Amino acid sequence: MAAEIIAGAGHQVTIYDAMPTMGRKFLLAGRGGLNLTHSEPLEKFVTRYFEASNWLAPIIKDYDPQKLRKWCEELGEETFIGTSGRVFPRSMKASPLLRAWLKKLENLGVKHQSRHLWQGFDGDSLVFRDKDQKLITVKADATLLALGGASWPHLGSNGSWVNILAQCGVKISPLRPSNCGFACSWSDYLINKFAGTPLKSVAIRHQNLSHKGEMVLTKQGIEGNAVYALSAHLREAIKKDGKAILHIDLRPEMSDAKLAEKLKTRGKESLSNYLRKAGFPPVASALLNELIATNQLSAASPEIIANYLKNLPITLTSATNIDRAISTAGGISHESLDENFMLKNKAGIFAAGEMLDWEAPTGGYLLQGCFSTAVAAAKGILSFVENSNKNH
Ligand SMILES: Cc1cc2nc3c(=O)[nH]c(=O)nc-3n(C[C@H](O)[C@H](O)[C@H](O)COP(=O)(O)OP(=O)(O)OC[C@H]3O[C@@H](n4cnc5c(N)ncnc54)[C@H](O)[C@@H]3O)c2cc1C
Repeated sequence: MAAEIIAGAGHQVTIYDAMPTMGRKFLLAGRGGLNLTHSEPLEKFVTRYFEASNWLAPIIKDYDPQKLRKWCEELGEETFIGTSGRVFPRSMKASPLLRAWLKKLENLGVKHQSRHLWQGFDGDSLVFRDKDQKLITVKADATLLALGGASWPHLGSNGSWVNILAQCGVKISPLRPSNCGFACSWSDYLINKFAGTPLKSVAIRHQNLSHKGEMVLTKQGIEGNAVYALSAHLREAIKKDGKAILHIDLRPEMSDAKLAEKLKTRGKESLSNYLRKAGFPPVASALLNELIATNQLSAASPEIIANYLKNLPITLTSATNIDRAISTAGGISHESLDENFMLKNKAGIFAAGEMLDWEAPTGGYLLQGCFSTAVAAAKGILSFVENSNKNH
């Protein structure tokens, strides 16, 4: 995005990337339909970035979801608003958009050097290891680092930049998984029978926060969009207390009383039959057996069973590995950047995207944050280069 703006202003731009082809993480995001941004009112949108919302709000407002949609449409990919307010290209794919975008960059004269792994600095120059393992140095008037976070590292972004920049005195908040799953100790029975089972339309609750959506049982614990939405809070609660208790409501649309009425009296029926007749899948009785003590279940009244079904407590012990997280929290601290997104202690070096210290839930906020910070950094680079030229 920054290359497009800078080349569009008449400058020579070269993109160096460690991978053989560009945009691998972007293509992966396309597998889920490429949720580009969100259609909610802008004032609400800009609050989605947790503590970073304050400094990101003007950046997002400057290059907002409307502009991003227009950009996408100019590349031939019409967008639409899904039922949840999320915005997608109509093709629900990243590949046609990426192809059109790379063509546009080529037409603007942007060069692309693949298989160039950035190693750090040599004075004011950048050092890369190329595909033949040769070290090459490159001197540029300005550089934008857009090296991503540390999730799905085999796609290129592996956080190897952290040590390089930390050695230059850049303040970096530790990289942590965001929009990730969580671990809990399931029994072998639950893992063997139900790992991979989605629980659609549940509500999950942690302290005073709740979210409706999908939760998937995994071998390690849980994942899914409802879990991702609370992941920043769950991660921080586990950091503070060593664990977090998450409550699951398997029937969020029904009150306790209505559900108890539907359940009637159990009699001698097995729990799974009893729940099945009330419309619950087998995983519901498995979860009750897993999470509620047997003696509390055996003679429980419909009211008590209804209460369990709407308040199943899961003890989460850790976030699952960053390798499989959707995104990364932490990164270059805002205070290490000037208002143009240039590193304060490294003149001419700018940064944007997921490598900056912000996080957001899924819903299109991640790509929008990356695009908006890239636009802001590109504008910063243009004014830096212009000022440098004036001074020489
Ligand atoms: C499964 C999945 C689905 C997702 N779906 C969505 C979605 O639908 N909507 C959404 O908003 N977000 C989504 N995201 C998140 C989104 O893809 C990222 O936030 C976004 O791609 C980050 O962009 P970036 O340019 O900052 O970094 P990246 O896209 O990670 O790009 C960083 C680039 O830097 C290169 N690089 C890193 N280190 C070096 C080095 N030392 N030398 C040279 N090159 C290097 C990498 O090769 C890579 O090409 C998803 C993520 C995942 C994992």
